[in-house]
Amino acid sequence: MSTVEEFLTSKEELEIVQAIRQAERNTSGEIRVHIEKSSEISHYNRTLEVFRMLKMFNTKQQNAVLIYVAVQDHKFVIYGDKGIDAVVSTNFWQATKNVMQQQFKLGNFKQGIINGVLKAGEELKTHFPWQINDEDELSNEISKG
Ligand code: CA
Ligand code: CA
Repeated sequence: MSTVEEFLTSKEELEIVQAIRQAERNTSGEIRVHIEKSSEISHYNRTLEVFRMLKMFNTKQQNAVLIYVAVQDHKFVIYGDKGIDAVVSTNFWQATKNVMQQQFKLGNFKQGIINGVLKAGEELKTHFPWQINDEDELSNEISKG
């Protein structure tokens, strides 16, 4: 079994899922969170692997975002799909990284993820506003390594 439960209670998990739902009310973009203890390969490559594993490339506008966190390594990666890269600048996720880092530094693990999810939603809204026919294309549940 995963040891991620050591880091998040089920109540905290639920709060993160609610943040994802809230963020996706403003954007057609899909946000997912993956949490694991650590990674043996580079965190960036691991993020790509998880992105593929979760079939996150499978959205109409290619606008899914994965927030990957390796808890024990104190590392996180924000990875957006091609559709996002095509319309934003290279430092697009910097503000989202900053809000997460702020909370992580204070040891507020759950809050860092929640703030990151909400910020990512705000940032996505500019380029991918929510539309009336929006579908929840990817699960809002947290994925665990
Ligand atoms: Ca959606
Ligand atoms: Ca979703």
